[in-house]
Amino acid sequence: MAAHSNGTGTGTGTSLFTPDRIAPLFPGAERAALAAHLPLVLAALAEQGLGDPLMALMALATIRAETGGFVPIDEQVSIWNTPADGPPYALYDGRNDLGNQGPGDGAAYRGRGFVQLTGRDNYRRHGERLGLDLLARPELANEPDTAARLLASFLKEREPRIRAALADGDLAAARRAVNGGSHGLEAFASAWRAGESLLQGRPAPSHGQPVGATIPACDTGLIRGLSEQVLAELHRLRPGLLARIDHPLIRVSGAHNNPWLQRRALQALVRAVEERGQMLQINSALRTPMQQYVLHQQYLRQLCGVMAAAPPPRSNHNSGLAIDIDDAQAWRPLLERHGWRWIGAFDPVHFDYTGGGEELGALQVRAFQELWNRHHPEAPLAVDGLWGPATALACDRSPAAGFGNGPLLRRGMLGVEVAQLQQSLRQVLDLTPRELAADGLFGPATEAAVRRFQERQGLEADGIAGPLTLAALARGTHQPGGPGG
Ligand SMILES: [Zn+2]
Repeated sequence: MAAHSNGTGTGTGTSLFTPDRIAPLFPGAERAALAAHLPLVLAALAEQGLGDPLMALMALATIRAETGGFVPIDEQVSIWNTPADGPPYALYDGRNDLGNQGPGDGAAYRGRGFVQLTGRDNYRRHGERLGLDLLARPELANEPDTAARLLASFLKEREPRIRAALADGDLAAARRAVNGGSHGLEAFASAWRAGESLLQGRPAPSHGQPVGATIPACDTGLIRGLSEQVLAELHRLRPGLLARIDHPLIRVSGAHNNPWLQRRALQALVRAVEERGQMLQINSALRTPMQQYVLHQQYLRQLCGVMAAAPPPRSNHNSGLAIDIDDAQAWRPLLERHGWRWIGAFDPVHFDYTGGGEELGALQVRAFQELWNRHHPEAPLAVDGLWGPATALACDRSPAAGFGNGPLLRRGMLGVEVAQLQQSLRQVLDLTPRELAADGLFGPATEAAVRRFQERQGLEADGIAGPLTLAALARGTHQPGGPGG
């Protein structure tokens, strides 16, 4: 079931990544190192289905944080790994969390390579994946081709969590997914910012950007406007059946992530979370059939590392009876005690609620069909709740921002609409061109400005410029007259 890539399908997105263009990410690197190692890293990423620009930039920013010079190296001897009066790396010898078993393991399995692979467990597991005996020959981890493949294997293992963090624009969480903490975050974030223009290959927004055009961008948050219209209809048809996930120990983030589950499923989840008393990270909860369509297409086309995705509306996610989470194996016993079932290794992050519930997929499809028909009376769909070819085609052509909505502008987008937004923000917030460039690229500065404006207007400060924010901006920039005028 895994979405294997032969490297031809997913590597195309990284053609922008050349030694010249990535040089600003690595101010301390030799040009020769970039030229020698970049192709190895891109090939290794493509081999793992991680060849899209977003994951490529993630990999490069990780290398910058770990090695600076884009050369696979040994971890330096420091007070963090070496006791004042003991042998190098001896502080790692007894680290159970790394799988180390005593004297010598710290030095043998010290940090190496582009990702600074550390500890007996990591050397064993990633070595097995690559068919290398790294326990016997750990020094291979500094061989450039192996270092590149280890980096890709390491990122693959954490892919859902990384993508969720990046979709959320949360660089600290993306760094944490690799490092466990915030070590190197400053270098990581600085490399990310220097490389953000490399993401310009992602689809640009426009008033009518259709759902189908968002598929290669690996982010079902891009169709949030359309999803919200169908969810609003679902809430109207089945009031009270879905409950909002709102609990201090449950984190649901990202524009793609609709924080809803069927009430009983959520109650069972809360019992499991409170029993464990730890934070649960949900990377996907309720999905609309349109989101499911995008995921299923990504799966079929071997894009975005989607390991498994049912066709719409067959997923339990479409009914609010499924979740994808971090640390699935740690949560499994707790969740299984409370009516949630792990689905299996082919989709290791996924749990289904088995305590009963209503099938909502067909109802959501009907809601979409009716929505389409209201806006396309000339080409109506049969309102049958079935996802047939005509409905799939209609979805593909539907505006990602929703019917009758203007664009939904958010981080990572590029286009004329973004430049107009930046100009309006400058005007209402009294910013200089230096403070906010009208370059058409929706980066961190634009996001911060949107948040400031939203806060000032009493809107939800999510940093996404949707219909409400854009309307408020239009009012703010067209006020006639001034004081005393
Ligand atoms: Zn799932």
